[in-house]
Order: sequence, then C-alpha cells, then structure tokens
Amino acid sequence: MARIFSGIQPTGIAHLGNYLGAIRNWVALQEGNESIYCLVDLHAITVWQEPAALRAQTRTNAALLIACGIDPERSILFHQSAVHAHARLAWIFNCVARFGWLNRMTQFKDKAGKDREAVSTGLFVYPNLMAADILAYHATEVPVGEDQSQHLELANDIAQKFNHDYGVEFFPAIHPRIIGGTARIMSLRDGTKKMSKSEVSDQSRINLTDDDDTIAQKIRRAKTDPADLPDHPERLEGRPEARNLVGIFAALADISPAEVLRAHGGQGFGPFKERLTELVVAKLTPIRTETLRLAAAPDHIDAVLQKGAARAAAIANPIVAEAERLVGLLPAS
Ligand code: ATP
Ligand code: MG
Repeated sequence: MARIFSGIQPTGIAHLGNYLGAIRNWVALQEGNESIYCLVDLHAITVWQEPAALRAQTRTNAALLIACGIDPERSILFHQSAVHAHARLAWIFNCVARFGWLNRMTQFKDKAGKDREAVSTGLFVYPNLMAADILAYHATEVPVGEDQSQHLELANDIAQKFNHDYGVEFFPAIHPRIIGGTARIMSLRDGTKKMSKSEVSDQSRINLTDDDDTIAQKIRRAKTDPADLPDHPERLEGRPEARNLVGIFAALADISPAEVLRAHGGQGFGPFKERLTELVVAKLTPIRTETLRLAAAPDHIDAVLQKGAARAAAIANPIVAEAERLVGLLPAS
C-alpha cells in the first residue's frame, strides 16, 4: 500500500484538464492506497486572490472533488493552510533549495511573464512548498498532470540534498504518476497552451460546473483548423487543436484516439463537436448536480475539511517535528 499525495489550487473552479489529468486518477488510486488530497490554498495566494472568492472557491472545489468520487472517509481531504506542518517544512526547504534550481522552473517563467520584478516572492518559492506538501507525509506516489513533472524532480533534489546535508535517509524518493494521453489537456482557444484555471479567458476551458449550454457554446467556438478530421492519429501531427479535441473525446469515452478517428475520421469539425458536446455533457452533468447540492451546505464542507485536516496533521506533525530536530531546531513542546 503506497501513500499518495496530490493537490489542487482553489484559484478558480476545476476544469476538464484537472479532471482528466489528475482528479480522475485520484479517484481510482483510492483503491488499495492511503490517499491524501489537498486544496492548496497557500499555493493559490502566490497570485492575488480576492478573499471572499478564495473562500468560496476552496469550498466549491472541495465539493467538486467529492462529487467526482473522492470519498472523504476513505481519503484524507483537507485545506493546506489548516495543517501548519506544510508551511513549517516549506521554510526549511526554502533554506535547502538553491536559487539557481528555482530559477530554472518553467512554470515560474510562464506565470511571472515579462514583469518578473512585480511578482510575489511566494510564486518563486512555490515549488519548495509543493515539495513540503508531499514530503511532510513521506508520500511516495504523486498523481499529477505533466506540467508538474519539473516540480517533482525539484522535490526529489530537495529531498536528496536534505538527506545529504544532514547525513540521514529521512525523506524518501517521490515517483510521479503521470498518466499518458490525458496528462496535458490544452486550451480550447490555443492548442499550444495548457488548459488552466488562471487563464484570463473563460472560453479557453470547460469548468466542471459549467451548464450544458455553456459547454455547448465553448466547444462550438473551440479553435480548429479548416481540414476535416483525419482517419489516423499520425495525421494529427502539427494540428494541436484537432489533436486536443480528439484526445478529450478519447479520454472521456475510454477509447484510444485511433478508435475515435476510425469512427469520426473524414468528418468536418461541426458534427464531431456536436458528438463531443454530448459526451462532455453526459459526463459532467452528474458531477455538476452533485457539486451544487454539496455546495449548498458550506458548513458541512468546512466540517469535512477540518476533520480531514486533523487526520492529515496527525501524520505530518511528527514527520516535520523530526525534520526540525534534524536541522537543529529545539522542540516546540
Ligand atoms: P492554475 O492556472 O491556477 O495553476 P491549473 O489549471 O494549472 O491552475 P492546478 O491547481 O495548478 O491547476 O493543478 C491541479 C492538478 O491538475 C495538477 O496535478 C496539474 O498537473 C493538473 N493539471 C492542470 N492543468 C492540466 C491540464 N491542462 N491537463 C492535465 N492536467 C492538468
Ligand atoms: Mg497549475
């Protein structure tokens, strides 16, 4: 039985990319593992979040995870800020990770954009907090989308350097669990950019709470190219938008892209988009309905998260206390 850790930022509402790249795997990995899933609100505030919106989004995403099949009795589901061990270990990792390592992180470069001087220092040290999230539990399996693979390598570098500096085998190696074809779902407006919560245009993504009309409209307006769908995946080369829509279809229908093209190759995008809309609506309607039902009881969600936080703290506190002792910090009590 492995210990799994993963997280999602309450920077917006979880979208189809989060679902196919991460959440769907989280649900499956509950079976036979000890799974810990976290709403990483401390990560979210590395970019400005309106406080009331942050609170609402944290609750809605918690409801969404439960609606997608995360069982808070079986898994540990909680909000990051409630377990102080994350921030305590992150500070130690700020002192272990090297400036040059963080300087190479492509997500920082993407998110900081051109105006590097103006972004928060939190955004720069974000990967150290992510390493702490995982290593505070001695978790070894981390199911994430492909965009997080560089951060996981860095987490391993931090763990190794800590072990080396303090002469112990304290932190274990982390194994990314990145699942093939759905590891990177792309924006509906630009097939070269990943679908993201923080992208300004809401048209670029399908949020898991979008209603049927919104889903239909976003797919209808999704960028494509003038050619018809090919009959073989090899001919999707150089057609990122077409590849993305075929990939989404395949993932939701649980078939391969080749099978999608066997059925739909030679068609124009008009009819294909209609079939895709039907499929997305069929998959998301039950999730949306259940999310709205759960979100109507915010006190219940808070209670679920607080209970999860107590269970998480019971694992993380002794591990982080030991890391502090190894570093030479005196015990807190
Ligand atoms: P933000 O724009 O605020 O960073 P995000 O959409 O990137 O939001 P995160 O909360 O950062 O979402 O990531 C949650 C999980 O979803 C991570 O495991 C991440 O790798 C995965 N993920 C995010 N975007 C995609 C995507 N487009 N395709 C597949 N997986 C994704
Ligand atoms: Mg992200």
